[in-house]
Amino acid sequence: MWGRVPLNTTSVYRHIYFGKQPEHDIAGPPPYQKFATADEPSTTQKSLAMYALTLSAELAGVTNLRPQDTQENNFFYTFKVQCTSCRETHPNPIAVNRFENNEMSGSRGEANFVWKCKNCKRESSATIKAAPTPYEQTEPAKAQKIIEFDCRGLEFTEFLPEGEWLVDGIDSNTKFEGVELTEGEWFDYDEKAGEEVSIKDLKWDIVRA
Ligand SMILES: [Zn+2]
Repeated sequence: MWGRVPLNTTSVYRHIYFGKQPEHDIAGPPPYQKFATADEPSTTQKSLAMYALTLSAELAGVTNLRPQDTQENNFFYTFKVQCTSCRETHPNPIAVNRFENNEMSGSRGEANFVWKCKNCKRESSATIKAAPTPYEQTEPAKAQKIIEFDCRGLEFTEFLPEGEWLVDGIDSNTKFEGVELTEGEWFDYDEKAGEEVSIKDLKWDIVRA
């Protein structure tokens, strides 16, 4: 016969055997199990999922396309977001800054973005794992990872390339700043190289990493 005996006040129980030790337990110590406390809502704990934002684009005369994202000049990654519990979509696009940390409730740590769904009231979060990887010019264009992020209880369904981007002349190394991609294309002239440069056919995707 097995009984459950409280070890202390924090709902940790030790299973203690009363009577004859069963055959299979003789070799090892008695099994015991820690039960969830109020701070650890094991039944509501959402699983963590890793995603990547990828880009495919036609770059002419330029390479190393990346968001202007530094400690001094934070970039705001703009997404449409959906709750995975009830499938409610946030009415407005949201902006994630990888240098900003917000407290999650119940001492569950911090995340770049914390959202409480208005519909089901569940809290979800997302965090960008590292600095962005510049997109390199290739012929033909191919999808490349820009950032990776983890999500708990939410999904980013669409990326909106708001904000300022940087790109470099391929041979001239001319630095282009304040590049805007929201129109879906960008054109300029590289004085040093004496040629027109452009970014076209931007395709953003959010994939499982
Ligand atoms: Zn919800």
